[in-house]
Amino acid sequence: MSKHICRFCNSGKISSRLLFDNFPLAPQSTKNPRFENFDFLIGICDECFLIQQLSEVPSEILYREFKNDVVGEKLNNQKLSFFKYITHYLKKNMTVLEMGAGNGFVVNKLAELNKSIRFIANDYNLNIKNESSNIVMLEGDIHDYEFDDIDIFFSSHVFEHIADPTYHLKKIKRMLKIDGLYIMAIPLFQSWIKKLNLNSFTTEHLIYPFEDDLIAFFNNMGFEKVSSEVYLDHSLFICFKKLDSSPKPILAKSKQSYLDNFSKNLDDLSNLLLNISSKHKKIVLWGANTSSQLLLNIMNKIDNLECSFAVVDNSKLKINGYLFGTDIKIDQPDIITTLSQKDAVVIMVGTFDDEIKRQCALINPNVKIYDKSFICSD
Ligand SMILES: [Zn+2]
Repeated sequence: MSKHICRFCNSGKISSRLLFDNFPLAPQSTKNPRFENFDFLIGICDECFLIQQLSEVPSEILYREFKNDVVGEKLNNQKLSFFKYITHYLKKNMTVLEMGAGNGFVVNKLAELNKSIRFIANDYNLNIKNESSNIVMLEGDIHDYEFDDIDIFFSSHVFEHIADPTYHLKKIKRMLKIDGLYIMAIPLFQSWIKKLNLNSFTTEHLIYPFEDDLIAFFNNMGFEKVSSEVYLDHSLFICFKKLDSSPKPILAKSKQSYLDNFSKNLDDLSNLLLNISSKHKKIVLWGANTSSQLLLNIMNKIDNLECSFAVVDNSKLKINGYLFGTDIKIDQPDIITTLSQKDAVVIMVGTFDDEIKRQCALINPNVKIYDKSFICSD
């Protein structure tokens, strides 16, 4: 067995905790069915307690075909909320860099309202329309560039994808001025894992830090926490400042109980799915992403399945594609109108469940909906 090294503290003491065997390599929709799979393994560091992916996924597979658009009120509001969080730290004539700017929703809005500030937008495939004149475009890997005058570095839902956070933060620290800020939005893993969000563990996420893991890690790298804010049950916004001296070490707390609880919830989910598959003819899974891949992965282990499956998604980019790892074509949610009382919809997409349940009930008020309340109460 290969030896795993902790992505935060370099310790070799890592315990394997969750294994999803024969799991699809990427959480996305593809033009043609693709079936590459692997043993998706999650572990925890016995020294610093970081929950992390132990398996290696080739990044060219993860991001080659990947397309996503921002759908839903909650995700849009998350971006607006993060925009406000960053605005709080802006001062005249600063230089501000965003890693993973994508379509530029946040950086463009900041640039329009702060004309004295120089913004640098970085990504592999920048797709910013009508960009503000004070934005400089920077294509490619941020780690290949050198700066020494950055006042604020920020990113939204990028940090958890980084394979080597230590290398990353060393590089970015050199780019920042003393007292410069590192601001990020990341999934609220503490809540996601606690509440059995089936999108918690996706093959794209290499690390699953809680707030105290980030504080310990950044502290160790010469930063101190300035502030943090939680956006609903969805994201953690956190801001660190680069210090000119080494602060005293801070330790994070154990995360064992979170993974134990997640495993127990998965067992209950497995029993629920066995029950659902025996009762219904057709089962619609909502969300062309990891959550449906996980549900199918569990149901594939059930013998003599007699029900059929469909997958629906609100993202127009995914409709008519296939859910990676299956030959199931992704449909629009409208197909739910055709369901009979013998059929069912499973809505376990994570932090968007309430929004989607409302949408589903509008499409077909009579259809049976299964959600997380059937397995865990909180
Ligand atoms: Zn560690």
